[in-house]
Amino acid sequence: MRSKIVAGNWKMNKNLAETEALLTELAAKLPDTQAEVMVAPTFVNLAAAVRTLDSSVIEVIAQNMHFAESGAYTGEISADMLLNIGIDTVIIGHSERRAYFGETDEILAKKVKAALAKNMRVMFCFGEELDDRKSDNHFKVVESQLKNALFSLEASDWGKIVLAYEPVWAIGTGETASPEQAQEMHAFIRKTITEAYDASIANNVSILYGGSVKPANAVEIFGKPDVDGGLIGGASLVADDFVAIIKAI
Ligand code: PEP
Repeated sequence: MRSKIVAGNWKMNKNLAETEALLTELAAKLPDTQAEVMVAPTFVNLAAAVRTLDSSVIEVIAQNMHFAESGAYTGEISADMLLNIGIDTVIIGHSERRAYFGETDEILAKKVKAALAKNMRVMFCFGEELDDRKSDNHFKVVESQLKNALFSLEASDWGKIVLAYEPVWAIGTGETASPEQAQEMHAFIRKTITEAYDASIANNVSILYGGSVKPANAVEIFGKPDVDGGLIGGASLVADDFVAIIKAI
């Protein structure tokens, strides 16, 4: 059985005191759930977040990492640095990294391999832009993003991969893919993985939906058979909203 996961991506929000306060509130309000709950604070607050939380209840994860082991990469963070402070999972390929920081499929493939080489879990994000959907190219775009970044992995690597399908037009816009659109794409993703690998890998990988998930739409989206949870941006910054989304799973 694949895991259900609800992850909060805090992006470049919350200072140290706010991070500790939100985590403490979340931990206190966390409902009983079979889902894995994760939060991704900004890099400077990761170590404090790990210290604040009981990691068996909420896992602290990173928003990004560099593919190099160490060296002259000013401003960057390596897998070893994350592992060293107790971070085992990293988001790779978020659309904001692709759009604002020039992260190509080729760079992302290197990052995925670097994280897996250190035995980290990778939450790999991908999804089409509005123009791709309008021109009916969304399946092709998603297929090529998966192929370019992930399909040279060994079958055995897939146990460490979580996918987050995030249509770019739905991220932070208030516009959500309909539950039917999410289900259609998630089923397509499983079919694509089945063709590249096999049905057991496709059926065992968790595929999260991301893009303006809110308490009001989470139940319907999470109710779809191929949606295994969500990667939540804005709504994860408010404890009551994030808790309501966790309850929806
Ligand atoms: C995200 O950034 O991954 C995201 C899904 O953001 P939001 O929920 O704010 O659309």
